[in-house]
Amino acid sequence: MNAHDKPNAPVLDSYWMPFTANRQFKAAPRLLASAEGMHYTSIDGRTILDGTAGLWCVNAGHGRRQIAAAVERQLTTMDYAPSFQLGHPIAFDFAERLAEIAPGPAGAKLDRIFFTGSGSESVDTALKIALAYQRSIGQGTRTRLIGRERGYHGVGFGGISVGGILNNRRVFPQLAGSDHLRHTHDLAKNAFVKGQPEHSAELADDLERLVALHGAETIAACIVEPVAGSTGVLIPPKGYLERLRAICDRHGILLIFDEVITGFGRLGATFAADYFGVTPDIVTTAKGLTNGAIPMGAVFASRKVHDALMHGPEGQIELFHGYTYSGHPAACAAGIATLDIYRDEGLMTRAAELQEDWHAAMHSLNGLPHVIDIRTIGLIAGIELSPRDGAPGARAYDVFVDCFERGLMIRVTGDIIAFSPPLIVEKQHIGEIVSILGDALKRVK
Ligand code: PLP
Repeated sequence: MNAHDKPNAPVLDSYWMPFTANRQFKAAPRLLASAEGMHYTSIDGRTILDGTAGLWCVNAGHGRRQIAAAVERQLTTMDYAPSFQLGHPIAFDFAERLAEIAPGPAGAKLDRIFFTGSGSESVDTALKIALAYQRSIGQGTRTRLIGRERGYHGVGFGGISVGGILNNRRVFPQLAGSDHLRHTHDLAKNAFVKGQPEHSAELADDLERLVALHGAETIAACIVEPVAGSTGVLIPPKGYLERLRAICDRHGILLIFDEVITGFGRLGATFAADYFGVTPDIVTTAKGLTNGAIPMGAVFASRKVHDALMHGPEGQIELFHGYTYSGHPAACAAGIATLDIYRDEGLMTRAAELQEDWHAAMHSLNGLPHVIDIRTIGLIAGIELSPRDGAPGARAYDVFVDCFERGLMIRVTGDIIAFSPPLIVEKQHIGEIVSILGDALKRVK
């Protein structure tokens, strides 16, 4: 089978595609060939506006020569070096650069950095650090990990255990002892809100309920996405994250923010922790860390967490954890070049500058057929459609295909459309997004 007999069309049989309906896709493939700035080009030469920064990762836009040059320089200087009991300067340099912008207030930044290869690895790393921390302070009975319904924390066994998406969990075993808060999505109270919803902060008290149920002495950590993306843009109600922080403090539970999508400017501050003014103990990142150019993740830990593990005999490995590609030199080169671009182009705060226009444009779709909610924060939008009778997800999928054919890349999850454009987006692109999506919504059955 090949891609519709187009020139340069690849044979499609061998590649088992991730999170894709393989048979459906291969019957009618959508193939991308190149990318520059705000746009992709398909293999048949059509220009497609990127409404999702790839998969929430290409924050500085596509085709950044500075990143490519840095990676090439690094690969031709030293392609790979091990990070176990050996080091290379660029990994330390990148960690120092990240420490400078780390989440948290001055003097209490989460400036101890562990490198991974992806968001899923960052999550599993953070959960393991939390368990190791509790044990190191004499709290070894704390092995339970708390996530939240509708949470997405990648696809490792740790991530799916605290994650709250049924399809990702259904056929796989999970870590014993994980449990979940209820999610905060409540359309009856909070539909069509710009920014944080007013209602439902009290859902954070679910953590008290789980403490009462299991005992605080069994709980190591609670992990949430400050803004959930993969389950359709769930924005924390006002006061919710603060309340979660307070409950964690009261019971000796570590708070982990999964910032794989919110990190690196998505909300108009470098991290959601800064944007919301709530400092967790550990932050997971990936994606925008390298502008998506080279796979990489990073876990930011507080000094309290890090230092608790830095004792025992000096020759002893403090954390039995790490990846062949932790601190990969080419990924670090991509990361440093990415941070330079973010700094030089003011991209970490650009979402704050564009926010008003973004909110207004997205909420102008209110009233179009099937739209039952629009929610926006930073440079993120979620547009929820009423499901088609007996076919949940089908309506949004049709909108996705229609938009793609008309030159706009959107992301859909269930019947929710999510937008997260590159942070270099201009007002004219926002207008184009609204226009193409608006037409698709009017057409869809
Ligand atoms: N955590 C969150 C919040 C994510 O959105 C994602 C990916 O979308 C992940 C973790 C997993 O990242 P990766 O796909 O790089 O493993």
